[in-house]
Amino acid sequence: MILTLRAGIVFLLLLCFHPCMANPPRFEADTRQVPELQPWGKVAEALCEVWYPKIVGILKSNDRERPLPPVVPIIFEKDMDGVAYVAEDKMHIAAKWVTSHPGDFGMVIHELTHLVQRYPENKAGDAGWLVEGIADYVRGYHFEPNVTNPRINFKTAKYTDAYKTTAAFLRWTEKRYTPDLVARFQTELRAGKYRDYLFVKYTGKDVDTLWREFAASGAEPASGAEVKKVSVRP
Ligand SMILES: [Zn+2]
Repeated sequence: MILTLRAGIVFLLLLCFHPCMANPPRFEADTRQVPELQPWGKVAEALCEVWYPKIVGILKSNDRERPLPPVVPIIFEKDMDGVAYVAEDKMHIAAKWVTSHPGDFGMVIHELTHLVQRYPENKAGDAGWLVEGIADYVRGYHFEPNVTNPRINFKTAKYTDAYKTTAAFLRWTEKRYTPDLVARFQTELRAGKYRDYLFVKYTGKDVDTLWREFAASGAEPASGAEVKKVSVRP
């Protein structure tokens, strides 16, 4: 018991002094428009507070740079269609989606990843596919690793399809070539310096060649889908 307590204190101290980790923000569910979702909102708050530092660690992100405000609202929108999005350091979630999909906490993790990403505006270039792929990579391979999804149809799919397809491609490329590839892309994207040639720099092969190899490999099932493409950031 004492050992466990000591280990816990050491862990907390390490967390506090981790060079990449600022004080993690608090998350506050705003369910004023839909008070019946308050219990769900409380779970989402707790989930975000546990997973925010985890995602910072997964992406090896420099969280001290352009830090979030101390309190991040999770606003449940009564009249919103779609699923969820992040804008201006706030998470917005469609109440109707939660009511019809009460088990979909993976969606919260996807949006939370966008909060960790917080790439400079208009500097991700045409890499929106990668931004969404990374969010589903975190969701699918870290938060929901046991969820099985349909195989990718390579007759029509491309790495730029974003979401679960890009997530599966990133996962495969990490396993085959560069274990911290997604974290490296996080650094480049945060610096506004991501370009497709970085696949060559970090794996030795260009992205089209990697995609062909991925397709030929029989491709593992994709995991962690965002059901609708509604995220607006960036
Ligand atoms: Zn998204």
